[in-house]
Amino acid sequence: MLLVGARAWGEIIVQGLAMALQTLETTCCIVGGGPAGMMLGYLLARAGVPVTVLEKHNDFFRDFRGDTVHPSTLELMYELGLLEDFLKVPHQQLTSVGGVFGGFPFQAANFRHVPTHCKFVALMPQWDFLSFISKRAKTFPAFRLRMHYEAVDLLRENGRVLGVKARTPEGDVHIRADLVAGCDGRHSTTRKAARLEVQEFGVPIDVLWFRISRVGNDPEQLFGNINFGKVLILINRGDYFQAGFIIRKGSFEEMQRKGLEAFRQSVHQIAPYLGDRIEELKDWAQIKLLSVQINRLTRWHRPGLLCIGDAAHAMSPAGGVGINLAIQDAVAAANLLAQPLLHGCITEALLARVQRRRELPTRITQRMQVNAHKVFEHVFQNPGPLKVPWQLKMGSRIPGVQRVLARVVGVGIRPEHISGVRNRPVFGGRLVRGIAVCAGAITAVTVAYRLWRVQN
Ligand SMILES: Cc1cc2nc3c(=O)[nH]c(=O)nc-3n(C[C@H](O)[C@H](O)[C@H](O)COP(=O)(O)OP(=O)(O)OC[C@H]3O[C@@H](n4cnc5c(N)ncnc54)[C@H](O)[C@@H]3O)c2cc1C
Repeated sequence: MLLVGARAWGEIIVQGLAMALQTLETTCCIVGGGPAGMMLGYLLARAGVPVTVLEKHNDFFRDFRGDTVHPSTLELMYELGLLEDFLKVPHQQLTSVGGVFGGFPFQAANFRHVPTHCKFVALMPQWDFLSFISKRAKTFPAFRLRMHYEAVDLLRENGRVLGVKARTPEGDVHIRADLVAGCDGRHSTTRKAARLEVQEFGVPIDVLWFRISRVGNDPEQLFGNINFGKVLILINRGDYFQAGFIIRKGSFEEMQRKGLEAFRQSVHQIAPYLGDRIEELKDWAQIKLLSVQINRLTRWHRPGLLCIGDAAHAMSPAGGVGINLAIQDAVAAANLLAQPLLHGCITEALLARVQRRRELPTRITQRMQVNAHKVFEHVFQNPGPLKVPWQLKMGSRIPGVQRVLARVVGVGIRPEHISGVRNRPVFGGRLVRGIAVCAGAITAVTVAYRLWRVQN
């Protein structure tokens, strides 16, 4: 026998009398409180759809997973009327991205001309971003966030997903829903449980993340340091650098065997301006290995289930686009699904429309990341001082190249907009132009890379 224990807006708590198992009912159960899940939860609750977000951790703090909030995401904040408050959260503003390649300083992307309100990338720790969205989402009565709820399986009947089984500190819970949104990242439980087929794209790199303090005369906007077979990314976080040392996949153990001093020397060799601060690295415990993957589901849905964000397509850190792509997926999903969810008429055909809308931007972005990885691979093969390729010298002088790259990275392909927002700025919906710009950028990168390989 079942008893309705309590009724809250957006969630019905049904308690089984004969057993300790609790059942919750909602309209959309979102698994994963990362960028995709929190944004989808916010948007659906804003539209009045009862939604419950399950997050397996107890808070938003976790390993460094990227800080880059791109102009496309900032534009969505503007469209939602949240931008002013969002920019009050401490962050740094990156107006251009560049680096030093074999001693040659270059600018890769210049965001000052992107057709959005914010002409910069906001560097904000991911936990601050997620806390901001969750606070705003909690103002909607239809929103529930359940921390420390880990989805362990799907509830199914006759081939349809009916909800989620979750493990919580208080015991197991069943959450029944019209739709389960798998936003649980690249190790997604939902996609595994649904047996969705994953297509893997080989990745030759891993990243070691650590912090080093920053001083006044350090470069402000500089990002990549590439030389001597090594790549070091330094992200300005105010009083410290979030540093990412890119290594050959699977080579971390070998580096550890060579010792911390050898690692410190490697970092110092390509960024000598760090000086004595390199001594701040005293223990391997300060250095976190993050394994990079690129993959994509061939089908993002099953009846009653839709995967988005990294759960549908794991992204590499190259270009710092993963968070933003996950958020774009969430916006597209909310635009297409909020009304059908409200009216109880969600079909698999609608879920397929979300995949159709977001698959092209995903494919193009992942292709660019795969190409960027090839450049890293080539750098690894040249342990001596790097010769600056003429293509880089020439490219950095051609007017407009940095603007195009800034647009591709900062705004992306097929940028999404909040449904019903009028008076959008200039960049909305121009798919053909977007594809042309991206095709140009991919061709330029591919040709430059091939020419460079021929030369070396
Ligand atoms: C080393 C590294 C650096 C990166 N740097 C950047 C960067 O600078 N900029 C950028 O834009 N992107 C970056 N990315 C990519 C970016 O982190 C992801 O693309 C992005 O976080 C995807 O968002 P998501 O919401 O889909 O998934 P995630 O951010 O992975 O969020 C998934 C959430 O689901 C939760 N979860 C998982 N399983 C369960 C479960 N069973 N039950 C309940 N909850 C669950 C997790 O705890 C997590 O909170 C980086 C990635 C890596 C690996």
